Amino acid sequence: MTAQIIDGKAIAATLLDSIKLRIDARLNVNRRAPSLAVVLIGGDPASAIYVRNKRLACEKVGIKSLAYDLPSSTSEAELLMLIKQLNDDKTVDGILVQSPLPAHIKDEHIIEQISPDKDVDGFHPYNIGRLAVRQPTLRSCTPFGVIKLLQAANIPLMGLDAVVVGVSNHVGRPMALELLLAGCTVTSCHRHTKDLAKAIMQADLVIAAAGKPGLVKGEWIKPGAIVIDIGINRLADGSIAGDVDFNAAKERAAYITPVPGGVGPMTVATLMENTLLALELSEAA
Ligand code: NAD
Repeated sequence: MTAQIIDGKAIAATLLDSIKLRIDARLNVNRRAPSLAVVLIGGDPASAIYVRNKRLACEKVGIKSLAYDLPSSTSEAELLMLIKQLNDDKTVDGILVQSPLPAHIKDEHIIEQISPDKDVDGFHPYNIGRLAVRQPTLRSCTPFGVIKLLQAANIPLMGLDAVVVGVSNHVGRPMALELLLAGCTVTSCHRHTKDLAKAIMQADLVIAAAGKPGLVKGEWIKPGAIVIDIGINRLADGSIAGDVDFNAAKERAAYITPVPGGVGPMTVATLMENTLLALELSEAA
């Protein structure tokens, strides 16, 4: 069997088109465009690329993007002051602080201070909690992007045995919660899991989010399984690879996502949709 490749780039482009139509419809009746404040601290080249992609996507759909590019010497107190200012600004709908942050700034201190209704990354404990109690509001972009990807590929999730590799607050954990919400039986694996191969061999759906190239071997994939690779790893030769041994896995899976061109574009498109949703929710409140 050779897997059907799920084209995340094309699915994300369709999603972006639909968001643009919704924003155009607002403008046609003299309602304002959504706005997203993107905070980038320091000069990490990978972060700069992610932020550029997010700003380009804003431009594409008609979201007003506000750039806050700060030096790596920015203190936690200074960043918190900016967050407060953006929280209080009624013309700002979404606030995104690009991670990783410099070591002297605690990620969780910042996330907790972003107003939950502007938390378009879906990282705030309130929004993670909403997802946990099956009342999602703003949902973490990468996991929710994966759900949209699976929906767009017409893959029903109810009842599947799913394995998520990785349990980070931003990716693996909310991914497991999304899959529970979708009716999967979920196993979360992490660096202390005793037998990763055994867990994956039983899975109908494998979602890899460990940040370890080649971690998931092709021979572990159950024939006919669905394989979603969230990992983005830069190899020594400069190329980008996921966590799954793609070439071997695609010979056993029914569906598989490539890296790049799989989950990554969905993350950005979902961020755009969350920003529009944040504005819509604030208007409805
Ligand atoms: P992280 O380092 O915070 O978490 C990694 C997780 O993987 C941890 O829970 C750890 O326990 C687990 N892990 C590590 N080694 C393992 C092993 N040998 N076996 C089993 N589990 C293991 O990383 P993160 O922020 O969750 O990101 C994970 C990957 O996803 C990275 O490659 C990141 O670049 C990528 N990512 C992609 C997107 C996207 O849009 N495609 C978005 C965010 C992150």
